[in-house]
Amino acid sequence: MTQDCVFCRIVAGEAPAQIVYQDDLVTAFWDIRPVAPVHILIAPNAHYRSLNEMGPEEEAVAGRMMLVARQIAQEQGIADRGYRLILNTGRDAGQVVFHVHLHLLGGRRMRYPLG
Ligand code: 5GP
Ligand code: ZN
Repeated sequence: MTQDCVFCRIVAGEAPAQIVYQDDLVTAFWDIRPVAPVHILIAPNAHYRSLNEMGPEEEAVAGRMMLVARQIAQEQGIADRGYRLILNTGRDAGQVVFHVHLHLLGGRRMRYPLG
């Protein structure tokens, strides 16, 4: 756990968040500033600054993030209509919180073009 990381603190239950799912590898919680009717973040319980820090040994947690996102999309009732997963990596992508997280966005028609 990285003490000055807000997502590490959420994972540890030390910072408030609307947690929707937690297991041995990942924690999912509502984004504090949702940009869609469903906007949930799925983060590894362990601290990685970005996807660039994840290697082959993180395959299980990386896969879990995606499958948990799909499971939450089903629970939120948006799986059939569709949803978007976003994983911002680094400055050019606009990453703000440097603890890896997948955005699950849905509940409205997403806009194009990407980027
Ligand atoms: P990024 O641009 O790094 O991919 O996105 C960071 C996201 O984290 C943003 O959508 C922002 O609203 C969200 N966020 C930042 N701080 C907090 C927080 O303390 N709690 C929660 N639940 N979300 C946060
Ligand atoms: Zn962290």
